[in-house]
Amino acid sequence: MVRVFIACAMVIALSIFATVSPASAQAGPSSAPLPHVETHALPEVASPPVHFDAEKATRAYLARVSGKARERSDSYFEGGYWLLLVDTLYAVVVAAILLFTRLSAWMRNRAQKITRSRFWQVPIYVVQYVIVTTILTLPLSIYEEFIREHAYGLSNQTFLQWFGDFGIVSAVGLVQMLIVVTLIYALIRATPKSWWVWATVVVVFFIGVQITIAPVFLFPLLNHYKPLPDSPIKQQILSLARANGIPADNVYEFDASRQSNRISANVSGFLGTTQISMTDNLMKQATPGEIKAVLGHEMGHYVMNHQVFLLVGFGLLILIGFGLTDWGFRRLAVVFGGVWDVRSIDDPAGWPAIMAVFTVLGLLGTPLENTITRTAEHEADIFGLNASRQPDGFATAALKLATYRKLEPGPWEEFIFYDHPSGRTRIHDAMVWKAEHINDCDIKNGPVSPQ
Ligand SMILES: [Zn+2]
Repeated sequence: MVRVFIACAMVIALSIFATVSPASAQAGPSSAPLPHVETHALPEVASPPVHFDAEKATRAYLARVSGKARERSDSYFEGGYWLLLVDTLYAVVVAAILLFTRLSAWMRNRAQKITRSRFWQVPIYVVQYVIVTTILTLPLSIYEEFIREHAYGLSNQTFLQWFGDFGIVSAVGLVQMLIVVTLIYALIRATPKSWWVWATVVVVFFIGVQITIAPVFLFPLLNHYKPLPDSPIKQQILSLARANGIPADNVYEFDASRQSNRISANVSGFLGTTQISMTDNLMKQATPGEIKAVLGHEMGHYVMNHQVFLLVGFGLLILIGFGLTDWGFRRLAVVFGGVWDVRSIDDPAGWPAIMAVFTVLGLLGTPLENTITRTAEHEADIFGLNASRQPDGFATAALKLATYRKLEPGPWEEFIFYDHPSGRTRIHDAMVWKAEHINDCDIKNGPVSPQ
């Protein structure tokens, strides 16, 4: 900060000197009339543009994370690429076990024995399906969500705490599956040729409802939310919200440190439920500049209606996915239907095959899915910079996220695997923003960048 002040003072002093000296030279030392300075011309002359090298500043920030820390976050994130493939293969193997051992057909038969209603046979099948697949995928879940997170020092949970959360998430997942799968089969029976169009509408509507109610009904199942005690930063966050048209009158903090040290926040809700929440980690680990930068980003998602953007984008992908799944299932059923004892697409015993095809398509669509979310995230980054005017806070917050996200991927790597802009992109955006605003007083006198 001091360095910038000195630099500013020197520039102003030099410009005044430059303005005054030609007049003195012309007039000569002896006559020495006081030079007449046009006051309205002064600001222009007194503040010549300060140069700020965005590229150099970006490199200086990136160099702060090096050695072991850099290796660790690169390896954690790159391991995630393989897990995408492993998860898909695992899901296909589980589906194959259910189908080829005719366990799926057996579960359908049980449902048929319990009720003759084709509608109610589906949820009875789904309960069995979710229990069996949760047990079969449990080893992979334990490795990915517990063992691996601990190996990289990213989890604060004991096994029992993790397992408790896993149980809650699985129970919520079961309720979701019961509703969605039952409706999908009702649609398949009603409109066997175009079910995939109507199923897309139902699923998108369901996701929309869930996004809206999750902060009020689902998130509190895992974390405790409480109003942030009054403080200057809370008032600054509320001021930022008011300035950007966000109808929130309180800021909440939740105990994300129960699970990990990750920093995050969100602005969520709809009509009366608009809520600004931040993790206790953000409160503890971040500077006021970083907090404002992160909250500015989250407010951007809200103001720019990104939930709608994401619903439309993913809705289109789901439509294509269901259409191709219908096509894929029918072909698989022709070949294997007899072995699986699966009669037609309206037979719930074929659900594992539908899931397997949809999961493989989901893997192939990874770059598209990530590009949709990354686009929204990039927009929110720029909104956050404009709203909070904290380019350095945003840059250091991006460095803090580097504990679990590779900082400098290649361009294709970022395109395929990144659901958020990489640390390098974010810091570069922030430094370009800073370079373009370097002559604004709050930026000129802001924190010293690491040049
Ligand atoms: Zn975001």
